[in-house]
Amino acid sequence: MNLIFLGAPGAGKGTQAEVVSEALNIPQISTGNILREAAKNGTEYGVKAKAAMDSGALVSDDIVIGILKERIAEDDCKKGFILDGFPRTVPQAEALDAMGIKIDKVIEIAVADDTIKQRVSGRRVCEGCGASYHILYKPSKIEGKCDKCGCATIVRKDDQPATVLERLAVYHEKTAPLKNYYEKQGKLVTVEGQEEVSETSKLTLAAVGA
Ligand code: ADP
Ligand code: ZN
Repeated sequence: MNLIFLGAPGAGKGTQAEVVSEALNIPQISTGNILREAAKNGTEYGVKAKAAMDSGALVSDDIVIGILKERIAEDDCKKGFILDGFPRTVPQAEALDAMGIKIDKVIEIAVADDTIKQRVSGRRVCEGCGASYHILYKPSKIEGKCDKCGCATIVRKDDQPATVLERLAVYHEKTAPLKNYYEKQGKLVTVEGQEEVSETSKLTLAAVGA
């Protein structure tokens, strides 16, 4: 099964993508994590991407489309995959269609902007492996330390309040039109993501038939 997870920054699409990835045993592909890793390693595109990410802007379509093409060509994607954070623009969705990739469902995790603003401040990410946490809703077992690799968990630069407002604006302008794009293809399923994480996970698993 090939799935797309759509949602505003901080809506919890990554968390839900992870739950479904474990349930269906297919890889979760987070373009945000791949970009942050590239930025950390100082690769050519990583350096370019970092400037855009830190300001709350999107990374250019050609960079992200290139990354995605390479990633889904890997062996572990043969039995299906979950795209978490891609596509984020209509041209990215068109590129996916042009590659001949068949998408089964697009899960939108719907959360109001006000809730997002409150939530993002509690978000933490592991410096080592990129795993994500939330101090209230998804705490690590030991505060400040990643459950998976033991590295420090930190606040992302782009989770600062001013940057979050910019990312929300970008989401509404560039990414939200994808709802209509996939609705027309009959693939959009909207999951309410306002309540507790475990509640949202139940709805999400039901939506993908897992
Ligand atoms: P969130 O979903 O919380 O916004 P992500 O980790 O998915 O966070 O993405 C972080 C940043 O990485 C984005 O704000 C953007 O700059 C960049 N990025 C990730 N995926 C894409 C994409 N498909 N297209 C353009 N930029 C992207
Ligand atoms: Zn880690």
